[in-house]
Amino acid sequence: MNSKVELHVLFDRQEIEATVRRLASEISPDYRNQNPLLLGILRGSFVFLADLIRHLDFPLEVDFIGLSSYGSGTQTSGKIKVSKKLETPVRDRNVLVVEDIVDTGLTTAFLLDYLQKYKPASVKLCALADKPSRREVPVNIDYLGFNVPNKFLVGYGLDADQKFRNLPDICYLEAEA
Ligand code: IMP
Repeated sequence: MNSKVELHVLFDRQEIEATVRRLASEISPDYRNQNPLLLGILRGSFVFLADLIRHLDFPLEVDFIGLSSYGSGTQTSGKIKVSKKLETPVRDRNVLVVEDIVDTGLTTAFLLDYLQKYKPASVKLCALADKPSRREVPVNIDYLGFNVPNKFLVGYGLDADQKFRNLPDICYLEAEA
């Protein structure tokens, strides 16, 4: 895996900013006066969540859960485990899960099922990006930022081997010709 890769911008920071504002305007009327718990999935959602909450002008709380798939590489193995538990009790809370990208759907499907055990009042999903061509299990995304092609994305929190999370734009990686 020593081949060189090129970065291409898919969505620049202005497009991301406009999309985050649009999502906040969709979320706001549904959650105002509910003190929702925004639950970010680590690690990829941390930049998106940080921007999103600054456009939500009502009381809310934030927590994170760490999820990872067994095995390694860029493909998920299909078995998800909780690598960092959430600390906030979710019973009777309105929970909005904030995810970076829904790919096969296995991670979000696992989390939505896992949360039901703790009897939240409601659970909805906000995802920055959706790669529908890769879906293996159905997932209903309530608030969606971008539909994306089947390319490996980095930047704005998304990583490749823990790198590129700090890029302000959403880019895709392509092997150099
Ligand atoms: P899923 O379980 O296959 O839906 O994948 C969910 C996780 O895989 C996401 O939360 C991301 O962390 C990671 N992932 C999927 N596609 C990409 C990508 O294009 N770039 C970076 N991470 C990705």
